[in-house]
Amino acid sequence: MIGGCDVVQVAAEYGTPLYVYDEATIRARARAYRDALQVSYASESLVCYAGKAYCAPWLLRVLAEEQLGLDVVSGGELYTARSGGFPMERVFFHGNNKSEDELWMALEAGVHAIVVDNLEEIERLARLATDRVMRQKVLLRVAPGVEAHTHAHILTGAPDTKFGVSIDTGAAREAAEAIHQARSLEFVGLHAHIGSQIFEIEPYQATIGKVFGLAAELRDAFGFVLKELSPGGGFGMRYTSDGEAPMAPAEAARALAQAVTSEAERFGFPMPRLTIEPGRSIIGPSAVALYRVGSIKPIPGVRTYVAVDGGMADNIRPATYGARYTALLANRMDDAADSTVSIAGRYCESGDVLIPDAQLPMPRLDDLVAIPGSGAYQLAMASNYNLVPRPAVVVVNQGHVRLVRRRETFDDLLAPEVF
Ligand SMILES: *Cc1c(COP(=O)(O)O)cnc(C)c1O
Repeated sequence: MIGGCDVVQVAAEYGTPLYVYDEATIRARARAYRDALQVSYASESLVCYAGKAYCAPWLLRVLAEEQLGLDVVSGGELYTARSGGFPMERVFFHGNNKSEDELWMALEAGVHAIVVDNLEEIERLARLATDRVMRQKVLLRVAPGVEAHTHAHILTGAPDTKFGVSIDTGAAREAAEAIHQARSLEFVGLHAHIGSQIFEIEPYQATIGKVFGLAAELRDAFGFVLKELSPGGGFGMRYTSDGEAPMAPAEAARALAQAVTSEAERFGFPMPRLTIEPGRSIIGPSAVALYRVGSIKPIPGVRTYVAVDGGMADNIRPATYGARYTALLANRMDDAADSTVSIAGRYCESGDVLIPDAQLPMPRLDDLVAIPGSGAYQLAMASNYNLVPRPAVVVVNQGHVRLVRRRETFDDLLAPEVF
């Protein structure tokens, strides 16, 4: 049962693979961040959901209702937010190589701020804002040179990173100077994001300290006022039953609020507007992926492959990061998990294995494999590899199911082809 619904029935009705999102979980996690920040931070604050974790119209509506803001990283995410009526005054536009068209679109949409990443972008944006005869609020994304313990592919705050400008090398000061000189840009603050799936608070504290240090230097250089600060997102979530316990949303929000409060005091700044940007930690735990077993292939003395009807095209994380998951058999929850099997996907790559060592009751044909923790960076990264239509998505809430994305069709696959 999820959200008062029997997932075996839901899968029978909507087919598999199917992603099932629980609305109550999303709202509870969004509120936990928002309320804790409001209570523990004495100035203005905002929780910005990082849309790249999963960006869909129904979800943005739920998060807008919960008074969250939104980080977008592309014209497509901005378009989705705009067409669903997401309040633009709570939207931040991020990315390390935004095109001229995307920047123009953001200016036109009236996003709250553009988080600039590099000197070329500062020049590009300043020129576009001048053309539009407007002044655009910007934050500068800095690379604080802080190491967080996570997988190298999702690490962004270390010295070797493609994101932002380094505080340590002086690149951040140079970029800040360029923003300060640009009359069409209003330099409101600093932003850092040090990676994803982070379980400790120390790297955030170190980051906040370094960002305030830079702000103080900029204050000395040209009277910079730090009106807004974002130490990013990246708060970890639990994927496996034996996995490391992440910080609770309220705990993470409180710790960041405290760190910003004490650094502001130490450096003699008024408290900036504080934005935090959880993506994975809000949406990841709220969904379960459901797959149907189509074959069981024991290789004596080696392993047993259990093939399901989805895989790396709807969840690339095991193949890319070696991400681990725990599976359940939704239709046999009471049977003892006395077998170790490999849950293989249906795609034509040997590396398409969702879980190499799943502990399950020995699966049978047509069993329903459920993988919790499937809400973030799965559908968002999904492809049509092997020309397989992408899964349907339903939302469950208080015993009701609603289809929010229909299963793709073969015609959807051919729609962009030019004949
Ligand atoms: C990806 C990203 C986030 C969110 O990361 P999660 O690990 O999903 O919390 C926040 N801010 C920025 C700028 C990002 O690029």
